[in-house]
Amino acid sequence: MRTLLTGVPHALAQPVCDALLGEGIGSRVVRPFTSLAGYGATPPAEIVILNDGDVQRALLVAAECVLTLSCGPAAEPGVDLSRLASGLRVTCPACEGSLDPRGGVDGRVTCVCGARHGAVELIIAQHGPEALEGCTTMRESSGEAATLMHATVKCVRCGHALEGLARRGVCPECGRKFDKAVCVLQAYLAAEFRA
Ligand SMILES: [Zn+2]
Ligand SMILES: [Zn+2]
Repeated sequence: MRTLLTGVPHALAQPVCDALLGEGIGSRVVRPFTSLAGYGATPPAEIVILNDGDVQRALLVAAECVLTLSCGPAAEPGVDLSRLASGLRVTCPACEGSLDPRGGVDGRVTCVCGARHGAVELIIAQHGPEALEGCTTMRESSGEAATLMHATVKCVRCGHALEGLARRGVCPECGRKFDKAVCVLQAYLAAEFRA
């Protein structure tokens, strides 16, 4: 058994613990402060994990959970063209040839004549928005990845700014591995604890 996180805000402790349990990581919320003095009505908690070997995985699960709680769910509406009614075709506005709108990349289809078109726009223009019924889906938001990419996170060993780097990587200055989600989690908890 070991402490995973300390100073966890009240509102965060149980959701993080539930997320850990959901991933099969034995954990529980501990409230070390029996006196409320100095901490208000909701003293910060600790999260302990039962198996020491789970610590790295547990930190990542906790980080995902905190990011979801503080940035909203990582999903936004999208259109899944593979769910289109079978046989639905659109007409290329350039050559009037027939196109399969499912075959595109990044929502764009390229006609044999070389013209590129937005598949969704063509479907709506030629068949109406109802043709997309049943294709709407929730896809993973790129917002979180973009937020992490631009997060002002510093290398914990040498302080090198990691802005603009991908979520996980190696510090270009000192070679230490980093995961920005974990850095953000630690900064978030520190800020909550001070507030
Ligand atoms: Zn064409
Ligand atoms: Zn570094």
